[in-house]
Amino acid sequence: MILVTGGAGYIGSHCVIQLLEQGNDVVVFDSLEVGHIETIETLQNSFKQNFKGFVKGNLQNFEEINQVFKQYKIDAVVHFAAFSQVGESVENPQKYYFNNVYGSLNLFRAMLENSVKKIVFSSTAATYGEPVYTPIDEGHPQNPINPYGSSKLMIEKILDDYDKAYGLKSVRLRYFNVAGADSKSRIGEWHEPETHLIPNILKSTFSGGQTFKMFGTDYDTVDGTCVRDYINVEDLINAHLLALKYLNNGGETNYFNLGTTDGNSVKQVFTACEKVTQKQIPVDVQGRRAGDPATLVADNKKAKSVLNWTPEKTLEESVKTAYEWESVLQNRLNN
Ligand code: UDP
Repeated sequence: MILVTGGAGYIGSHCVIQLLEQGNDVVVFDSLEVGHIETIETLQNSFKQNFKGFVKGNLQNFEEINQVFKQYKIDAVVHFAAFSQVGESVENPQKYYFNNVYGSLNLFRAMLENSVKKIVFSSTAATYGEPVYTPIDEGHPQNPINPYGSSKLMIEKILDDYDKAYGLKSVRLRYFNVAGADSKSRIGEWHEPETHLIPNILKSTFSGGQTFKMFGTDYDTVDGTCVRDYINVEDLINAHLLALKYLNNGGETNYFNLGTTDGNSVKQVFTACEKVTQKQIPVDVQGRRAGDPATLVADNKKAKSVLNWTPEKTLEESVKTAYEWESVLQNRLNN
């Protein structure tokens, strides 16, 4: 049985679906502060057999997470539960360090007390900070420039020490910009408030949506807007399943970038959204958003060669599934 923390959230829920589709038994632990109970209900109803349970709890409470290990026979953990908004982490670092770092410490303690020694951890390109060179490989210096990135890097370091001391084996996956939704539109990105580019462009096309704000057109890039590496969420999750397989086969603690190596500018993403929605979308051009580096693109050779991972979906496919999901969500929210 696999324990997925944060399984009611955007990326975690896509992992739960793929694990279930491949016949794994899954239990989800989530505080529902960011995740949604509706997502859990969808997962439960779609996979009555293998969805073994949902536990609403907070990792900051050791007993709540320890209890899950007593109740279920867990073989491995995929750990998504975290707060992930950069701006909020600057304003309220305490929230990030308590939840992300202290919460993870409790999870690892519960794992060790219950002899569970395999974990796939959701890390981030934000651990690299301002890029010194691109594409960014795993050897790039890790100097995060905000508390969110620092909290994830601290957990990476803790995992290294816990392997040396206690034999806890981890795979840390450093995500670039995750995009798209379940290809059957059962689940998708659902943040309140939404800060990410693609859902914000798409939301603006629905009634009551706010005009899309484009942050910064004077960067030193192909067209003046920031360049990012958009990785499809289903491709991204596929790497988690390969990482679990890697650990099950006795793989050593390791870390990988998850990106496509393709950079797309905000304007290019915007054009893809206009193409997919077949709408002319109004834009409100604004100044730069604080803390945005000009270009963030992954070197993904390591994940390709060690995990045998190949991302397959294009940016347009991600935008298409994101749009289909956004239609489902808007329909649900307005009825
Ligand atoms: N962005 C934008 N308008 C928005 C949201 C994002 O112009 O409503 C820009 C943002 O400034 C950045 C890029 O889109 O250059 C990607 O931002 P996002 O928040 O999606 O991901 P991040 O790269 O910050 O993790």
